[in-house]
Amino acid sequence: MGRVTGTRLVSIDMLSNSMQHPSDSGLRDRFHVRSLEHQRPLSTVTMAFTVVAFLCFIGARNLVDGPAAPLAYRLGCALVLALLVLAIPRAKSTWVFGLIGVAYSQVLVAGLALNVAGVAQPLLWVLPAMVVIPVCAAPLWLTPTHFVAGSALLYATAYALLFGAPLTRDVEIVVWMWIAAIGVPTSAVFHFGFYRFRRNHFLLESQLAQLAATDPLTGLQNRRSFVKQAERRLDTLAPETRISAIFLDIDNFKSLNDRFGHAVGDHALYEVAHALMEEASADDSVSRIGGEEFALLLCDGLTGALHLAERLRLAIAAIERPDGQLTASFGVAEHRSGESIMMLLDRADEALLRAKHSGRNRVCAERPLPRDALQLLVDDAAGEDGAAVRRHRWEDYYLTSHFQPLYSLSHQKQVGFEALLRGEQGDGTLVPPAVLFAPKPSSDEGALDRASHAVHLANARGSLPDGAWLFLNILPATFIAEGYADQLAKLVRAVGLEPERVILEILESHGGSVDDMSRAAALYREHGFLIAVDDFGAGQSNLDRLFRIRPDLVKLDGELIRATSHGTEQPILPKLVSLLHQAGMLVVVEGVETTEELILAVESNVDFAQGYLLGRPAAEIAPPESVHRRIDDAFDVIAHGRAHQHALFESEVEPYRAALRLAADALLAGVAKEVAFVPLARFDRCISCFILDDSGRQIGQEVPGPAWSSDGASLQPVANPRDARWDHRPYFRNAVLLPGVAVASNPYLSLASGRPCIAVTLAVQFAAGRCVIGVELDWSALGLPWPAGE
Ligand code: GH3
Ligand code: MG
Ligand code: MG
Repeated sequence: MGRVTGTRLVSIDMLSNSMQHPSDSGLRDRFHVRSLEHQRPLSTVTMAFTVVAFLCFIGARNLVDGPAAPLAYRLGCALVLALLVLAIPRAKSTWVFGLIGVAYSQVLVAGLALNVAGVAQPLLWVLPAMVVIPVCAAPLWLTPTHFVAGSALLYATAYALLFGAPLTRDVEIVVWMWIAAIGVPTSAVFHFGFYRFRRNHFLLESQLAQLAATDPLTGLQNRRSFVKQAERRLDTLAPETRISAIFLDIDNFKSLNDRFGHAVGDHALYEVAHALMEEASADDSVSRIGGEEFALLLCDGLTGALHLAERLRLAIAAIERPDGQLTASFGVAEHRSGESIMMLLDRADEALLRAKHSGRNRVCAERPLPRDALQLLVDDAAGEDGAAVRRHRWEDYYLTSHFQPLYSLSHQKQVGFEALLRGEQGDGTLVPPAVLFAPKPSSDEGALDRASHAVHLANARGSLPDGAWLFLNILPATFIAEGYADQLAKLVRAVGLEPERVILEILESHGGSVDDMSRAAALYREHGFLIAVDDFGAGQSNLDRLFRIRPDLVKLDGELIRATSHGTEQPILPKLVSLLHQAGMLVVVEGVETTEELILAVESNVDFAQGYLLGRPAAEIAPPESVHRRIDDAFDVIAHGRAHQHALFESEVEPYRAALRLAADALLAGVAKEVAFVPLARFDRCISCFILDDSGRQIGQEVPGPAWSSDGASLQPVANPRDARWDHRPYFRNAVLLPGVAVASNPYLSLASGRPCIAVTLAVQFAAGRCVIGVELDWSALGLPWPAGE
C-alpha cells in the first residue's frame, strides 16, 4: 500500500554512499545547488578582479609603440566581461553558471589576443595570464565536467588565437611547455581538491541536518523538523489544496513501560512508527512528536484523513503487547485558511483528548466552527428545495432535527412545532441524548447549541406550515451571548422565515444572570422573536426570574401535570395558570401523555399543550392529525364532569349547611354556643365551630370537633384562632355578601390543623350586631369531591 521513502527514513550511511550512485539525482542536485550558493560570491569577486586586470593590460599595451588592434574592440571585450560578471549573481542553474564561465574565458582569451596583436613577443606578454587564468578558474568550475570542458575550450581558443602559426621558435616551445606543465596540473589539483572539500562539507552538513531532524528511535521526523516542513508546506499551499493533520497517542503506554521495561516500550514505539509508515502514502509527513505521540500531515480533506486515521487505528490495534493489543487514540483536523500549523495541531489535539475521554482506541474529528456550521447550513438551505431532512456532521456523529407539534386547546389545532435535536451515527442509528448532551472535556456547549439552531432552521425551511411557530430551545449562556440575537435573526431570514415565527425557549439551566437575560430578551424582541421560559416548575425556575424576563409564553414542566393529576391534593395547576395569565403570559403544558392529563390541561385553562398524546417528535413535520377530536372530547368530559363534580360537592356539604342553620337558630334563641354547636361538632370532619364578630375576630372559645388535633405542632405559633382576624378570608366575605345563606368555601390550608380544609359559614344578625358563624371541616381525606371551577 504505502511506500517507505528515502526522504523520511534516510540513514547517515545511506547518505554518504548515495553520492557515489549517480542514480541519487536528488542528493546530487542538492549538492550542486549548494555549490552554486558557495561559489557565487567568490566567482563574482574573482572575475571582477580579472576585468580590472584586463583593463590594466590594455593600458600597458597603449604605452607600447607600433600598430595595434583598435582600442574600441579591446574595450568592447572588457565591457562584455563586465556584463558576464553581473550575470553571475543571477545564474539560477549549474549549467547557466558553467556557460557563463565558458563565455568568460573565451572572451578573455579573445581580448588578450587582440591586445597583444602587433607586439614582437606576444607569447611572453600572455604567459603569466595563460598560467594564472586556468589555475584561478579551477576551483570556480562547479563540477569536474565543467572543469574539463571549460579548461579544454580555454586552451583550444588560446592555441587558435595566439598561436595561429606552427611553433617554430624555442621561446614559443618553452612558453607552451610552461603553460601545459604548470597550468594544467596545478589547475587540476586545485579543482579536484576544492571539489572534494566542498562535497565532504556538503555531506557533513546534510548528515547534521538529518540528525537534527530525525527521531533516533523510530527514524521518523522529529517534532522540530515536522513543524518546519509543515510550515513550508502551508506557506506554499495552492488555494484549493486541502491539508489535514492526524494526531495520535498510544493508549496506556506508561503501564507497558512500567510492567515490562523500557526496551519493550521502545520496541512498541518502533513498531507503531513502522505501521504508520506502511499505511501513510509517500507524500504524507509522519513524525514522532514526542514520547508516545505521533503526528501526520497529509494532502487530503477531513473525510480522507478520518479514513486514514481509522486504517492507522486498525494497524496499531494489530500490534501485540505482552498483555494484549497495543491501541492508540486519534484526533483529526482539517487545515483552515490562514491557520498556522500549531493551531491545526492544537485542534487535532483537542479531538484526541476527546477520543481519550470517550474510552480510547478511537478516532475523533475536530469540532466544526460554529460559524462554519451556520454558514454551511445556510448555504445548504438556500440551495435545495428544503423538503429533505438534513444531517450535519458534528464530532463523531450527525445532527438532525425532530419536530413535535403543539396544539392550541381552545382552537383545537396545531399552532407550532418544537424542534428537538437528535444525534445519528453514520449508519442512521440514534445517539442517545445522554451521549449527545453529555458534558465533555473542554467542551463548548454553546457551539452545539448554535449548531442545533442552524440544523433546525435548515430542516424547518420550506416544511413549516404557514402561520405555525417554530420553537427553538436555547441555553441561557447562548441567549445572552454578545451579538447572537443579530446572528440568529440573520440566520432565520436566510432560511426564508421571519423572527416573528420563532419562539425561543430559554432552557432551565445555569448560566446567565437574570439581569443579563432580561436585557438580552429585549434585544431578541426588537428583532421580533417571541420568548418562552422552558420547564417552569422544575429546577432553577422561580417567579423572580419569570417576572423579570417577562416571557410571552411559559412552558410548564410535564411533572406539574402528573403531580396534580395523580395526587390527592387540591389541583394547583388552574391557580398557577391563572397567575401566569394575570401576569400576561400564555401557558403551554408539556408532556401530556394521557387523556386524564389532557382533561386536566383543558380544565386548568392552559393555552397550548404538547405531548405524546397529541403528537410524538418526528423527523418530518407531519400534517395535523385528527388530534382536535381528542381535545374536543376532553372539553366534553370536562363539561359533564363539572356538573357532576358540582353535584357531588353539594351533596357532601349539604348536611353541614343544615346543621349550621340549626346552630344559628339555636344561638338566635339564646342557647349558649357550647350547646348550640353540639350537633355540628359531632361530625367526624369537624375541626371546630366558631363565631366571628363583624371585624372578623373570634368571639370566645371555639368548639372543637373530632377532627381537632393538638398535634399540629409544626404550625404551633399560629395554631390559636383567637389571636387572629379572619375578615379577609373568602369564607367570611362570601357569608357577609349572602346574609342568611350557608356558603361553602374553596379548600384552603387550615392554620389550626395544617391540613386542607373547607369552611361552611353563615352571616347572622344578632341583637348585639352582625356575626359570622361557621364550621371548619377537614377536607384532606381521600375521595372527597372538590368544588368545580374557581
Ligand atoms: P494515555 O492512554 O492516557 O495516553 O496513557 P499513557 O500511559 O499512554 O500516557 P502517559 O502520558 O501517562 O505516559 C506516557 C509514557 O510514555 C510515559 C513515559 O515513560 C513513556 N515514554 C515517553 N517516551 C518514551 C520512550 O522514548 N521510550 C519509552 N519506552 N517510553 C517512553
Ligand atoms: Mg498515551
Ligand atoms: Mg501522552
